Amino acid sequence: MVTRVREWAIWSLIYPETCARCVRPIPPSAYIYCDHCWSGIPRAEREVDEALPKYVEMLHAGFAYSDGNFTRDVVHALKYDGHHPLAKQCAAHLLLTIPIQFWDESEIWAPVPLHWIRGNDRGFNQSELLARELASRLGHNPIKSLLKRIRHTPAQAGTGVRARAANVKNAFAINTHEEIPDRVLLIDDVVTTGATVSECARVLKLAGVQTIRVLSFAKAYQ
Ligand SMILES: [Zn+2]
Repeated sequence: MVTRVREWAIWSLIYPETCARCVRPIPPSAYIYCDHCWSGIPRAEREVDEALPKYVEMLHAGFAYSDGNFTRDVVHALKYDGHHPLAKQCAAHLLLTIPIQFWDESEIWAPVPLHWIRGNDRGFNQSELLARELASRLGHNPIKSLLKRIRHTPAQAGTGVRARAANVKNAFAINTHEEIPDRVLLIDDVVTTGATVSECARVLKLAGVQTIRVLSFAKAYQ
């Protein structure tokens, strides 16, 4: 898909305002993908996941992520191709998938942190961007950087369940200048094996957080 978005970038110089996926025209208010493509984005298999990562009480993901599907295109465009404004559409579409009873105004939102080395490479944390866009629409939950990444872990893409768990073990720590809340909603772009959110939740629990839930734009099914 990286290639497809790059090809589109060249194409869009010749034919501006066309969709990066289907090359239909898009209105100036849209960003890289047309409404037709967004309307076909595959929904996650379950509204609320039953197979939960350890230490996590509830998980909602909006969309199903798999090789070659539109969800993957969107995540890669946002995460690796630097299309930051896409976060606005991701948040808007994710919101439409969330059941009203999921919302808990007493929760503090905590984006899954990116190591500063990776953050510098890309210049932004896509989970934080997503959280900010969601907050700008809902406006009642504070976002706090409760966690920091203390170890630079290799990219998770393509590794198995055990390797992923080992990869993120002890990768996170509490940001000690933040007050520890009772309830936290972790926000991530993609949950795959759940190893990352589980490790974040473990660290939060150790610090005294009672309840940790997860909201993710996408979920990859094994
Ligand atoms: Zn399209």
